[in-house]
Amino acid sequence: MKANQKAEGPAMARSRYTELKRMLQERRGELQAQVQGKMRDVRAEGTWGGKLNEVLDAVESSEADIQEDIEFALIQMKSETLNKVNDALGRLERGDYGNCFECGEEIAEKRLRALPFAVRCKECEEAKEVAERRERQLAQRRGASSLFLDI
Ligand SMILES: [Zn+2]
Repeated sequence: MKANQKAEGPAMARSRYTELKRMLQERRGELQAQVQGKMRDVRAEGTWGGKLNEVLDAVESSEADIQEDIEFALIQMKSETLNKVNDALGRLERGDYGNCFECGEEIAEKRLRALPFAVRCKECEEAKEVAERRERQLAQRRGASSLFLDI
């Protein structure tokens, strides 16, 4: 999708801005609700209630721990995603969201809905993946140990 209002003014059409903003805000709302809901579940005692207890009777208690670990990991992951959504909203405000990092073209809205943190358009992403795969193969051949030296 090429923009024909390219020559002048803010890169992003108003309608696109509104759409993307709504999309990000919806996503933020969902994530907030999920994180809060999960927090409640994990904090409250006996939440694993009837249904799950029946299952748990049948398995090792260590698996219950694992289940809790998974829940916490999930909350953590969602919180991180939430941060990214907030960050994306900030970038959108600054007119710094939704354009390809490589070629500067607008990233298709459909792509952004599927991948809100995409920084490249489909073409550039694919090109990058090909390059990275090649890079990885080279690194594997070199033994890859040097990759961790400057952390
Ligand atoms: Zn691109």
